Amino acid sequence: MPGHTIGAMTQPATGSGAAAGRRTIAPVLALDLGGTQLRAAVVLADGSLRGRSVARTPRTTDGDAIVRECLELLRRAAASATADESPQALGISAPGPLDARRGVFLDPPNLPRSLWNFPLAAALSSGVGLPAALDKDTNVAALAEGRFGAAQGIDDYVYLTVSTGVGGAVVNGGRLVTGADGAGGELGHLMVDPNGPACGCGVRGHLEAYSSGTGIAAALRRAVADGLVRPGTSLAVRAAEQGADMLEARDVARAEDDGDLLAAEIMTAARYALASAMVTIVNVFNPTRVIVGGGISLGQGDRLLEPARAKVREEAFRVQAASVDIVSAGLGDDVGLVGALALVADRLSPRPSTVGRSALTPGAPEGEDSNRTPNQLPDLVTRSAEEVTT
Ligand SMILES: [Zn+2]
Repeated sequence: MPGHTIGAMTQPATGSGAAAGRRTIAPVLALDLGGTQLRAAVVLADGSLRGRSVARTPRTTDGDAIVRECLELLRRAAASATADESPQALGISAPGPLDARRGVFLDPPNLPRSLWNFPLAAALSSGVGLPAALDKDTNVAALAEGRFGAAQGIDDYVYLTVSTGVGGAVVNGGRLVTGADGAGGELGHLMVDPNGPACGCGVRGHLEAYSSGTGIAAALRRAVADGLVRPGTSLAVRAAEQGADMLEARDVARAEDDGDLLAAEIMTAARYALASAMVTIVNVFNPTRVIVGGGISLGQGDRLLEPARAKVREEAFRVQAASVDIVSAGLGDDVGLVGALALVADRLSPRPSTVGRSALTPGAPEGEDSNRTPNQLPDLVTRSAEEVTT
């Protein structure tokens, strides 16, 4: 299926920051494939959505059923577009780990095993007849914040999402820092305390083990098991009613609001861990802005961010601390859809990429970028399967 003249719709970027000076391909068909929800829409150049629909991710071990549901949503969204709004490319946000360059899932823990190593970008590209770009949800969200959200006009920023887990993405000089395997940016697994509680990844004391929804709920369950929940408190009542295993981070947050001391202690530890990690993030990446999104973060707002700002002022290096501000995310639940437009634009940028350089490799020689081969469309954007094979 030749003739996807993807560059024909180019126009000046409407946003700035990471997207400054880049070509815009719009409209874009967008898919946000999450562990619990699927979202699809057509995204116009200004970030507005057409034909948006949301569905539950099918609870099945059959990966094909999920792909079919994705295609159904995408076709419905595309059908809602007028002739002027006809999508030029497909942008996909999905859970990692995945190989963005090849458009392939690796081993995402929250999706059926039949999708492991599955070439998602090629399958959907061929299904909708558009060239496709795929990246992990945190990277897509970071690009979205750069183009339409809290990082507009900023080239050096860090995106953090504090939700069920803690994820992140680093943008340096307007480019995502992805590392040699595209797996960089795992800021949830920064070490906070080597003797701390076990993280979902198996290592002790990572940021995610304290500050995520999972980490906060686990801290409460440990407190219940250790007999630290005082009888008669709201936490004790809920634990008795539902069983300790059913307690969630929101129960801790509510109890804190009600003045429960144990809940306040757990939430303080969660905030302290984020503040500690923030000092490291600011010292290492020297961002001008850190954007913090995700349900657990947005529920707390400045209660979470203010301790991080204070600790950065006290403990980060003077130059980095003076440069940075720490703010809440600017985009809501549709960040993965809006980000699809930024993703497609990012993958078509002729500027040199940091792909292939580890985020944590120190001392990359100056001017190294000038020797890099600029991104070529065929490397990073998966054409439809027919084009690939012909
Ligand atoms: Zn971890």
